[in-house]
Amino acid sequence: MAVRIDGKALAAKVKSQVAAETAKLPRQPGLAVVLVGDDPASQVYVRGKEADCAECGIRSFPYRLPADTHQQELLALIEKLNADAAVDGILVQLPLPAPLEAEPVIEAIRPDKDVDCFHPYNVGRLNIGTPVFQPCTPAGVMEMLRESGISPAGKRCVVLGRSNIVGKPMAALLTQADGTVTLCHSRTPELTEITRQADILVSAVGKVNCVTADMVKDGAVVIDVAMNRNDAGKLCGDADFAAVEPKASYITPVPGGVGPMTRAMLMKNTTQAAAMQNGVAI
Ligand code: NAP
Repeated sequence: MAVRIDGKALAAKVKSQVAAETAKLPRQPGLAVVLVGDDPASQVYVRGKEADCAECGIRSFPYRLPADTHQQELLALIEKLNADAAVDGILVQLPLPAPLEAEPVIEAIRPDKDVDCFHPYNVGRLNIGTPVFQPCTPAGVMEMLRESGISPAGKRCVVLGRSNIVGKPMAALLTQADGTVTLCHSRTPELTEITRQADILVSAVGKVNCVTADMVKDGAVVIDVAMNRNDAGKLCGDADFAAVEPKASYITPVPGGVGPMTRAMLMKNTTQAAAMQNGVAI
């Protein structure tokens, strides 16, 4: 039976380390959290981020904009936040309501305040192996592996999903950690044959029970990034948890796995941004 990696406990540990680092900085770090529209899920995420800021000694600057905000108004806000010395990190909650476009907004954020690590400059730095920030979800997964004593070095790693926020940067970080990585997506043929070779299987698809027990090698580490709702409305991941857990050596539950780690890594990046902007090493 797999060991369950407790993301909640680990996130609490990361946040207490961040709070200790924050206290050493010459001034309180600040995170601007921009939410456009009234998507209920986004509102929950944003509230969670603001609570994390309070826990870590980070000042949060909330910006709630109506759904009919014009692209230029949003860009003007980003410019204002870029120039604000009290704001070390800028987070724009995605997805943006239509017809707003995310790309120009992401590219307008100053790269040294891009704590989500979505700006092309930071994505490029990540891919050449000299990251400034690490994107929160994949960084959280790497922290879970490290804390569990699992090194990707020399391991066969399979990532399901090729999104810019999870799959691609996950593959980059695992590659950097000397894993041999296969990145799969909806057009990948013979998926089960590939996943069955994985020593470390990271799933970020977003489909209930799309990772079945026959796709998992005995003793594999299974990291489930997804946050889905099953037919009963219960939060769950991609893995058929009851069937996969007995086969795996380690597994992350949903909820209580990768989700809390993503939030904790955002706090870590914000404190890192503040340290950089204050010229302090942490
Ligand atoms: P996304 O942008 O929708 O990407 C999903 C990816 O899965 C795509 O690359 C897609 O392939 C691939 N895919 C779809 N069906 C597949 C299949 N049958 N086999 C293999 N790959 C398949 O999603 P995302 O934003 O990366 O999020 C993925 C999941 O992670 C969601 O459940 C989301 O809620 C969750 N999430 C969790 C956290 C966290 O903190 N825990 C953070 C972010 C996201 P194509 O590219 O070919 O379409």
